[in-house]
Amino acid sequence: MSQQPVDHEVTLQSLLARVAAAATVEDLRAVAREALEQGGVVATLLASIPTLPGPERKAAGQAANRIKTELQAALDAKKAALEAGALLASRHVEGFDPTLRAPRAERGTLHPVTQVVRELEDLFTSMGFEVLDGPEIELDWYNFEALNIPRDHPARDMQDTFRCDPAGQLVLRTHTSPVQVRAMETRRPPIRAIAPGKVFRQETTDASHEHTFHQMEGLVIDEDVSVGHLIHTMKTLLRGVFGKDIEVRLRPGYFPFVEPGFELDARCPFCKSGCSVCKQSTWIELLPCGMVHENVLKAGGIDPTRYSGFAFGLGLSRLVMLRYGIDDVRHLLSGDTRFLRQFHRIG
Ligand SMILES: [Zn+2]
Repeated sequence: MSQQPVDHEVTLQSLLARVAAAATVEDLRAVAREALEQGGVVATLLASIPTLPGPERKAAGQAANRIKTELQAALDAKKAALEAGALLASRHVEGFDPTLRAPRAERGTLHPVTQVVRELEDLFTSMGFEVLDGPEIELDWYNFEALNIPRDHPARDMQDTFRCDPAGQLVLRTHTSPVQVRAMETRRPPIRAIAPGKVFRQETTDASHEHTFHQMEGLVIDEDVSVGHLIHTMKTLLRGVFGKDIEVRLRPGYFPFVEPGFELDARCPFCKSGCSVCKQSTWIELLPCGMVHENVLKAGGIDPTRYSGFAFGLGLSRLVMLRYGIDDVRHLLSGDTRFLRQFHRIG
């Protein structure tokens, strides 16, 4: 019987080892049943005490209590650990490690065209202009007829048009000028408005041609509006975009919706005596403009004997390319984030 305490120790260690090895709460319940419930190791040991010789009873009682206490503590601890593990497992997603650092969210950037449009909108609204919008799918009437470009007019050949229906009544607008007519229809002079937006031409793309590009239409109609107002407005625009005064010149140009019509050139902002941007001429062709043709005023419901006005069609894509030194217009619509990241100003 002198071996009894050692046997009890072996019993306890074996039970603790089973607790440690338990993989489920059910395993733990099995160990608890065998050790602690009726007929279990501890109960049997306790039940045997009266049969033992007197001196051994106390040691047997102590051994039974120790097994009970230590086993219960081990069972409780293991149960808590298993339950915590089960909770984690229930949240486990393949490949998800909650301890990893979160990747930094990448900040987007405003497209260079958007940046320039916003600057120009600020500039022109500060001069009392409205910012207008118009449909990109436009009626032939607004895109051509109302702008003094009738169906058989040779000027239609100047613009390769995407037509949207067999009858040719709907087109992807080839310029932002239709917004002029829409503005005249819904407003009375004085009118001061700009209309930035996308325009579309059916042409082969290359470094300087794109099927979709951006323009900004400008329109001013009031009494006694002159070419001087046009020049002043254009110089203000260029100062806003290039941050310095830039000389401009007007050359005669033919556009059906203006009379007289001009090509406006700006002095090259990048050189003094010629560079590749200005093709060594020191002048850059910037935009067509002119005094609004009386037929266009009439189409917009405005009396040409009382009012006059000027209009311009700024090539926004071209202006953005000039400002940032972009050599291929196709970059603008490429969606290439390596290109876009270079324009990292936000807002
Ligand atoms: Zn130059």
